[in-house]
Amino acid sequence: CVCPGTISQDLLERTKKHPCYSADAHHKYARIHLPVAPRCNIQCNYCNRKFDCVNESRPGVTSEVLTPQLAKEKFQWVKEQIAELSVVGIAGPGDALADWQFTRETIEQIKEIDNDVTFCLSTNGLMLPEYAPEIVDLGIHHVTVTANALDPEIGAKIYKHVSYKGQKYEGAKAAELLSLNQLAGIEYLAKHEVLVKVNIVLIKGINDRHIPDLVKKVKELGAFITNIMPLIPAPGSAFEDYPQTSMKEINEMRNICQLDIQQMRHCRQCRADAVGLLHEDRSQEFRMCNRPPAE
Ligand code: SF4
Ligand code: SF4
Repeated sequence: CVCPGTISQDLLERTKKHPCYSADAHHKYARIHLPVAPRCNIQCNYCNRKFDCVNESRPGVTSEVLTPQLAKEKFQWVKEQIAELSVVGIAGPGDALADWQFTRETIEQIKEIDNDVTFCLSTNGLMLPEYAPEIVDLGIHHVTVTANALDPEIGAKIYKHVSYKGQKYEGAKAAELLSLNQLAGIEYLAKHEVLVKVNIVLIKGINDRHIPDLVKKVKELGAFITNIMPLIPAPGSAFEDYPQTSMKEINEMRNICQLDIQQMRHCRQCRADAVGLLHEDRSQEFRMCNRPPAE
């Protein structure tokens, strides 16, 4: 497992410069999310990816979707402007593994021109049993899996449906399939020196009491850190009228779970095309339509 004391020197150095995995790094090092994976294979009740607004800031939202070639060009442009860029992440705007061929091609293309940058993926985990070996082979050492429930009955209230290998599942069956794949994927990655961050959306009255069990389980499977986040009910989503969870409630839950595993406390719930330091949003400045013409 990847306990902090057992990771390689190279991974330790990379993690020190990863603004999400290292609290000390987030004022110094920047990340870019490249929005190359537009599709998603599940429907979370809190998500409405059709909603795009320049003031919007939450995962799943982007102002542009790029091909791997354009993503590489955007990386080059941003890298020239932001010297402290240390991480390239693929966070959708759908699921990085639902469009795995685009995600993989983007990473391969960037690796050809920059061997130092650290790659990071975020996924709902449905396709991890298929792609985890390729993730390891590509040298991706930081993966975020969003997992909100172990119990299929609870999961059934969070996920509307799951599409897996050509079949659509609903209700507890969908939630169970998703959870089993997430857990198998987390275990595989952790056994292969990947630092797994598990994002958990706290939805009051739905999964809040269940979160400590979920955290214990992912810790047992080798997760490195958990990131308990407030529900941001997207307009038009099934949870549109749910109250946004307060930071007081989030911090109380983090304090309980801290006894089992380290907690991320500085997540900004960034857009799928976020650019810059975590506390700044330069996504509009670095839209490809604003790129200066080549000389
Ligand atoms: Fe939206 Fe992400 Fe859920 Fe897909 S996995 S429905 S993109 S929040
Ligand atoms: Fe880091 Fe959270 Fe932003 Fe992801 S959403 S890049 S974990 S701060």
